[in-house]
Amino acid sequence: MCKKLSLLALIAVVFLLIAFNFSPGLAAKYYSEQTDFTETFVPMTRHSWDKDDIESCVYKEDGVDNAYYVWTKLSVQKWRQALQEYTGNQEDWNITARFVESDAELESCDIKIYIYDKYSDFPDYPAQTGAYTSMTFKDGAGGQEENNNFDLRIYLSPLVLHGDGKTEINLPSYAFRNSAVHEVGHVLGLGHMQLQKGYLMSPHFDFWETNEQLPITTLELDALVKAYGTDGFR
Ligand SMILES: [Zn+2]
Repeated sequence: MCKKLSLLALIAVVFLLIAFNFSPGLAAKYYSEQTDFTETFVPMTRHSWDKDDIESCVYKEDGVDNAYYVWTKLSVQKWRQALQEYTGNQEDWNITARFVESDAELESCDIKIYIYDKYSDFPDYPAQTGAYTSMTFKDGAGGQEENNNFDLRIYLSPLVLHGDGKTEINLPSYAFRNSAVHEVGHVLGLGHMQLQKGYLMSPHFDFWETNEQLPITTLELDALVKAYGTDGFR
C-alpha cells in the first residue's frame, strides 16, 4: 500500500516536471533578455537584405572535422529560431545553411561560408588571423544601387592566432560556435559594439574568460527588428 502510494507520488512528480518543462511561454528557448546595459544599441552595417529566403552555403576544407560544419549550420539556425521566436513570426526569417562539396559551388549562394583548417589559409591572412566576414558591394549596371548588391563571405577556422601575433589557439567548441554566431550576425546587418567585451557583437571574444556559448539577446534582436520590421528580411 505504502509502496503504491509512493509510486503514485513519483508519477505525479514526474508528470508535474514534464508539464512544467514543456509549458509554452515559460522561457525563451532561442534568445535571452539583455542583462548588460553598458551599451544600449548595436551599430548597423551598410548593407541590409531585401529578400524572403536567404541561403547560406558552407564549404569546408579537407581535414576539417564535420562537427565544425554542424556547429556552423546550427549558428545560422540559431538566428532564424531566435528571430522567429522573438517576433512571433514562424513563417518568415527564412535563413538556411547547407553543405557544398566545393568552393566553386558557393558562388550561387547568398552567403558563402568557408571553414579552413587553419587561419593562415584565410585569403586575407596575415591581416586576418581569426574568424571574419568580408563584404564587398557589387557595382550596379547603371550605377544604380540595386537590392542585395553585396557579396558576403564568412571565414572560419578552428585554429586562430592570438592577438600577441604568435600564440596559436585551437578553439574550444563554444568559442568556435560563438565566433560563427557572431559572423552570421554581421551578415544579417549587425556591426560591432564599442570596445566593450562580453557582448555577442563585441569586436573581441575572451576565450579564456567566458567559457560558454553567448546567447543571442533582445539587444541584437531589437536592432534587427528596427532594421527589418517583424516580417522577415524584406
Ligand atoms: Zn566581428
